[in-house]
Amino acid sequence: MPESAAMHEVAVVGGGPVGLLLACLLAQRGRDVVVLERRRQRSGGSRAIGIHPPGLRALARVGLDSEVRAAAVEIRDGRVTCDGRVLGAMSFARAGSVWSLPQLETEELLRRRLRELAPGALRAGIAVHELHDRGTHVALGAELAGDGEFASEPTTVLARYVVGADGVRSGIRNLLQIDWVAKPGRAHYVMCDTRDDTGEPATALLHFEPAGVVESFPMPGGRRRWVARVRRPLPDLRADRVAAIVGSRVDGARFDAGADVAGGPSAFEARQHLAERMHRGRVALAGDAAHEISPIGGQGMNLGWLDALALERELEHALETGAPYDAFERYDRDRRASAARAIRQAAFNMRMGAPASGGRLRLRNATVRALAVPPLRAVLARAFTMRWL
Ligand SMILES: Cc1cc2nc3c(=O)[nH]c(=O)nc-3n(C[C@H](O)[C@H](O)[C@H](O)COP(=O)(O)OP(=O)(O)OC[C@H]3O[C@@H](n4cnc5c(N)ncnc54)[C@H](O)[C@@H]3O)c2cc1C
Repeated sequence: MPESAAMHEVAVVGGGPVGLLLACLLAQRGRDVVVLERRRQRSGGSRAIGIHPPGLRALARVGLDSEVRAAAVEIRDGRVTCDGRVLGAMSFARAGSVWSLPQLETEELLRRRLRELAPGALRAGIAVHELHDRGTHVALGAELAGDGEFASEPTTVLARYVVGADGVRSGIRNLLQIDWVAKPGRAHYVMCDTRDDTGEPATALLHFEPAGVVESFPMPGGRRRWVARVRRPLPDLRADRVAAIVGSRVDGARFDAGADVAGGPSAFEARQHLAERMHRGRVALAGDAAHEISPIGGQGMNLGWLDALALERELEHALETGAPYDAFERYDRDRRASAARAIRQAAFNMRMGAPASGGRLRLRNATVRALAVPPLRAVLARAFTMRWL
């Protein structure tokens, strides 16, 4: 691979929410950063909606907190029920509200901010498939994406440091030969965003029912996201089938399948993984490339933003001090510990939402009741709002 290209200070592979935030943070410091993103346009259904207080603080670092608050809806409290009986309720007033905004909109705000800070830093339509750590810099081999097809034209990008923020199926992680270790917490869910007819536009509702959990969360524009655990994927996923599952478990649930179902229903299998290490040489991993957290508990994107904040500090130090080879050791230790905590919290959430009957159901309900009274309620609210990360 000829190496005549210009040398960037940092190349970020992946222009998802984590890569974009990191690029904004570095660009704001005047660093020469480039983001290589395979897709020309972001599309598809929205994944994350929950922005927790630490995530909002991370966005505030690039001046996006008030824009996010203006576009999002505030989730101020949560209630847990089973068979129509309230097991517990909690307010997020002291721990800080969770904000709900579809991920595609959050990403658009980040892209716009990056364009303001460093026009041209985001290079869309470039897929990285090769990586060579030369000791003093890293050479990335990439292909230009044509309209719909990858053209065969190869390109080389050089950078003193590289960050792989290329998602769960990270090619950078594979190129670095870093193991992807499976962790407990695996289950199937169906999901549907629809009009919010619950009359509780600021409340997260968690129904811990014997047949499996049903959760629903406010979204902007008078909409609501419904999520239900299922034993296996539905062969024929339709909004009315999701509504039927919700209706069969939750008495009086106000989920009208015909009402403005945004984007249609979707299904996902929650899984959890942690990279065996988050760096090698001059390359670090961040976000989903480093840790896959179950969406139950909604923490993956927020956790990735905290990786970005930590990396900003480590990269700044490495670039200033002449680039020591151990640049990411502290990052690796701290962020893997944080991800391990998030994985344990999500696995706990998933166990609580599993189908249960008889003694197991009674034990689970007793646990939820105990968690919903002081002082444990404060601990729980802190966990929900990610205060401990
Ligand atoms: C149903 C669902 C609900 C969720 N809800 C929440 C929530 O409420 N709160 C929360 O915090 N998290 C939530 N998450 C998790 C959240 O969506 C992810 O944690 C987040 O998208 C991770 O961001 P990322 O930037 O690390 O990776 P991604 O968003 O996956 O972005 C990676 C980018 O890298 C690009 N890429 C990949 N390979 C290459 C390559 N070779 N070259 C160039 N570019 C490449 C991809 O095109 C992509 O744009 C949810 C997830 C799901 C599935």
